[in-house]
Amino acid sequence: MRKALLWASTNPFLAERLPRMRFVKRATSRFMPGESWEEALTEADRLSTEGMGTLVTLLGENLNSIDEADAVLDEYLGVLQDVGDAGVDLEISVKLTQLGLDFGPEVAQERLSRLAEATQSLVWIDMESSDYVDVTLEVFRNVMSTNRNLGLCLQSYLRRTENDLDNLLPLDPSIRLVKGAYNETKEVAYPDKREVDEHYFTLSRTLLQARLNGGMARPVIATHDTRMIESVNRMAVELGADKDDYEFAMLYGIERQEQNRLASSGHVVRVLISYGSSWFPWYMRRLAERPANVWFVAKQIFR
Ligand SMILES: Cc1cc2nc3c(=O)[nH]c(=O)nc-3n(C[C@H](O)[C@H](O)[C@H](O)COP(=O)(O)OP(=O)(O)OC[C@H]3O[C@@H](n4cnc5c(N)ncnc54)[C@H](O)[C@@H]3O)c2cc1C
Repeated sequence: MRKALLWASTNPFLAERLPRMRFVKRATSRFMPGESWEEALTEADRLSTEGMGTLVTLLGENLNSIDEADAVLDEYLGVLQDVGDAGVDLEISVKLTQLGLDFGPEVAQERLSRLAEATQSLVWIDMESSDYVDVTLEVFRNVMSTNRNLGLCLQSYLRRTENDLDNLLPLDPSIRLVKGAYNETKEVAYPDKREVDEHYFTLSRTLLQARLNGGMARPVIATHDTRMIESVNRMAVELGADKDDYEFAMLYGIERQEQNRLASSGHVVRVLISYGSSWFPWYMRRLAERPANVWFVAKQIFR
């Protein structure tokens, strides 16, 4: 089921047709407040009253032209402007392919630098499929050499990540750790969930230890895995970390109770809100993360 959904996420025929179906659109409302930036901002405002920050991302991936990358850049610059005006705790998370990575690293790098200059906090870089990891690390390092307003996502399912993280530590980076959402071969990624989880925990420890040694700006534990969250909290106590030494991040609409529970017990929590009309591949990846969600979609057909 997971493989089929991930295959669907990259299929242009389905991407063109399925989103036009009303029941598919209705089902997405569970995972996004709406397609517009205004709806995302309103929800960010509401979340702030519950003590949570927001991460916002404009949906859309590989582009057809550099003009499209410029449109994405303009959209994010507008978002950062509005955020400054509204004074809400909101950061953006971007995909380098949306900033033109497929037209050359320098295209994405130039646009990422513009965003890093425009933000009052951090611009987070999403990690995409494994083919993009080397170039994403290169762009991250290049921009960090002149502007440190950046954070980077790393994926625990990749065999290479432990090494990548060790190499990044001298930069005193901000790292968001996830398990990984793409369809990867067993040569590059651990095929077994247990191994992915074990590496997630080990990498979390490295992040926390680095933070306590002064070598990690902001460690972010981005997962909905409540057992993992509990284990990381326990490990943090053992290491002598305070609650504000690390953060949690979760996707909008998933494990809401856990988001509230963590925020009300004094943890730093950020909720990732996605918006935009190109939600199909992203939505398929959400379904693949929990095939039970497919039943939720199926129920919408009969409503
Ligand atoms: C803030 C944030 C940013 C992310 N950025 C990236 C990125 O840049 N690159 C990338 O590859 N991946 C990214 N991801 C996705 C990530 O890689 C995982 O695919 C996703 O978080 C599911 O894994 P999990 O850690 O929640 O653990 P899992 O072990 O997969 O799930 C744990 C439990 O969480 C619940 N759950 C998980 N996903 C869902 C869902 N979709 N619907 C309903 N319940 C669910 C279920 O109860 C499940 O049992 C991001 C995730 C978050 C939270």
